[in-house]
Amino acid sequence: MDPQDTRDPQASPAPASADYLAAPWPANEAERIAALQEFKLLGSSAEQSYDDMTMLAAMICNTPIALMSLVDTNRQWFKSRVGLDAAETPRELAFCAHAILSPDQLLIVPDATQDSRFAGNPLVTGAPNVRFYAGAPLVTPEGLAIGTLCVIDRKPHTLSEGQQAALQALARQTMVQLELRRNLLDSEQRNLTDALTGAANRRAFTRRLHEEWKRRGRNQQPLSLLMIDVDHFKRFNDRFGHPAGDLVLMRLVKLVGGALREHDLLSRYGGEEFAVILPESDAVAAEAVAQRVRSAVSGATWPLRAVTVSIGVATVLPATTLEMNSLVIAADEALYAAKAAGRDQVQVALAR
Ligand code: GH3
Ligand code: MG
Ligand code: MG
Repeated sequence: MDPQDTRDPQASPAPASADYLAAPWPANEAERIAALQEFKLLGSSAEQSYDDMTMLAAMICNTPIALMSLVDTNRQWFKSRVGLDAAETPRELAFCAHAILSPDQLLIVPDATQDSRFAGNPLVTGAPNVRFYAGAPLVTPEGLAIGTLCVIDRKPHTLSEGQQAALQALARQTMVQLELRRNLLDSEQRNLTDALTGAANRRAFTRRLHEEWKRRGRNQQPLSLLMIDVDHFKRFNDRFGHPAGDLVLMRLVKLVGGALREHDLLSRYGGEEFAVILPESDAVAAEAVAQRVRSAVSGATWPLRAVTVSIGVATVLPATTLEMNSLVIAADEALYAAKAAGRDQVQVALAR
């Protein structure tokens, strides 16, 4: 980057030289970027289904280069590429950043040296020496162009009507693949989430505990678990009704989540019981987290009646030969001890 360049990187890219024009941002840029992120494509590995599309695009259009380009905030990143080594280019140089401005049209540049938008573009004046460009926007069902399927030649070139229609058809098929991917990601997310509270569900808990159990062995770090149970919740439901009880559980998840670190996992273990996995935490750290959670709940203002929780804390040391279940059992025992000792408190156990 030019050290003299003082432009705000957050601002819409401006022309970097008099010889070419960086595309302005589309009016729906924020929405567009949000949509792009939902596909979780940026930085992902190559996949056959997209490589098939670029291969077909290059064959059909008879060009040495074909790309599936995703137009990110400051770069275009290639999910698939034929005939080009670069993994990404700056957005201000991207032909595709122009193409996405008209989501329902192909952008065709027969000879970039004859086009004032591109003649001085470093991708034209230097490698890969773009002359011909045709890009078909990849458009979500909401009408957001997240990138393109494009073909490039190092000499001037034209596409027949049939080739143009085929390139657009391939872009639509690419989008069909992308939509399947987004739906799959959505349903995976739903499968791991508790519908009432939005916390991770029991399945997500089990999956994550397995991962952390293995990691603990590798990293030689302790692992801790909190079991949290709402005190006298049956009475609350009996007195105020289940819908009011549901609201308590929803609010509880927000309060507990706010007391955790990013890598801790809060899950609904079942009913009014929540489990928190605390990676790389010894008993002292875990007890401190538990106390923070307990006082966040008891200190909050609750509309109908005070709500408190009891918490059992258990820790395993890195060198243990114990089974994974012994951590859960120990946390349960500590929780039971906290209930027996009068509730609204934390008890600690060491898994054995
Ligand atoms: P303790 O302090 O010993 O934990 O008493 P408790 O009443 O909380 O314990 P108990 O296990 O007897 O009752 C748990 C209650 O949690 C009973 C059940 O109705 C309520 N509960 C479980 N899941 C839900 C839910 O999704 N919504 C609501 N509103 N209540 C739930
Ligand atoms: Mg319970
Ligand atoms: Mg309870």
